Amino acid sequence: MLAGAERRQPLWLPGDVALLSSLNLVAAALLVAAAWATTATDDLSLRVAWVNLGVVGLLVAGAGNVLWLLAGRRAIGERRAELLVAPSEVGADDDATAPTRALATMAAPPDRLVSVARATLFHRDDCPLVQGKPVTAGIRSRHERAGRRPCGVCLP
Ligand SMILES: [Zn+2]
Repeated sequence: MLAGAERRQPLWLPGDVALLSSLNLVAAALLVAAAWATTATDDLSLRVAWVNLGVVGLLVAGAGNVLWLLAGRRAIGERRAELLVAPSEVGADDDATAPTRALATMAAPPDRLVSVARATLFHRDDCPLVQGKPVTAGIRSRHERAGRRPCGVCLP
């Protein structure tokens, strides 16, 4: 089990927030400038040029938001990897066989399958996602009849 909330870091680092904010500010400035300049002229070729600047603003905003989402996705992937090889599950040692032992432990047939009320997944009772939550135990077929699917982290 993970140490808890005190070990968690935010999904996005301050640099990610700064990048998102600055790219969206640049994009907003480009869009406002393009909108203002487009209405201020009657020359069609100039209007097209200003609309092109607005499109550049939209592309900048899109790039900033895609980078933001990719940073969050990367952080989630790292957390998921930590869950699969939690040090407390395999001991505090960090030798090369620890990940293999962790996966072997998780692949073993589960003794007890549990679910949280109104949840769509069922878990091994030692799954980090249900630790500290009120759970209901049952066999696999009972969970499946209730419409629950196996957890992707503990792989029951
Ligand atoms: Zn689970």
